[in-house]
Amino acid sequence: MKNRDLNGRRVVAVFAHPDDETLFMGGTLADLAARGADVTVITVTLGELGEIIGEPYQGLIASDQLGGYRAAELAHALGALDVHGLQLGGFGFFHDSGMAGSPDHDNPRALVNRIDEAVALLREQFAILAPDVIFTFGPDGGYGHPDHIAVNQAVHRAAADEQRIWWPVFEATAIDEALEAVEPPLGWSLPDRAYLDNFTNSGADVVYQLPAAAFAAKRAAMSAHATQIWVADGTVTRVNPHAAFAGLRNPGLAPAAYGLSNLLVMPLLDSEHFQLGNGSASHVVVEPC
Ligand SMILES: [Zn+2]
Repeated sequence: MKNRDLNGRRVVAVFAHPDDETLFMGGTLADLAARGADVTVITVTLGELGEIIGEPYQGLIASDQLGGYRAAELAHALGALDVHGLQLGGFGFFHDSGMAGSPDHDNPRALVNRIDEAVALLREQFAILAPDVIFTFGPDGGYGHPDHIAVNQAVHRAAADEQRIWWPVFEATAIDEALEAVEPPLGWSLPDRAYLDNFTNSGADVVYQLPAAAFAAKRAAMSAHATQIWVADGTVTRVNPHAAFAGLRNPGLAPAAYGLSNLLVMPLLDSEHFQLGNGSASHVVVEPC
């Protein structure tokens, strides 16, 4: 029987776009919930400015329908992880900010132009949810997306001084080692050094080893984000009717692989990495183990 050692504990994870929760720490969220914690994922934007993998749904971009579609993908992903979800300010309240320099960045509804509002709304939610621990991006946003950086700033401003905050990271050494065991699917590429340096962070205070059920839940959640994530295990979906197979030379290091719309192969690890962002790592209530 599953150890419910976290019964009564409250976990809040705050991310910018649908799919961030799954990519950065879906397995840990699933496992904390399975251990009995009350886990809530707060998503701030709809990711309206993302790209789309696969041809059938490309028209969602021109018709500005991607955000609503991603809200549904997020609901399925959170179901696979078996965690609660809420949209900060309601669905569609904060708009995806796009990349710095793009016209979308100047949209008055964009998150980057409304960080004070996000702080106020997060304060309200933290007061209601009373989290023992909060997870969010590190200060660089993981890989520099302006919305990720804005969420980091808003969470840290909204949280109490002593609030424990963990930052999930793609840990550089672990990703490098695992990537050596992965052969890209036909037509895909290996990411280059600059891409990896941007995408990863060095070092972790905690490595959370994912039990098989949590790893399976993360994979299912990744497949639920089919417009954004292509799991290279031969799976086809209505969104993406093309199979891709990554070669896995050492499943102990890289048990699976995936790509984003850029078709750069990335290893899917069976562990997730965290840096302590605030508060004390001692007298830990919810400690990734
Ligand atoms: Zn994101």
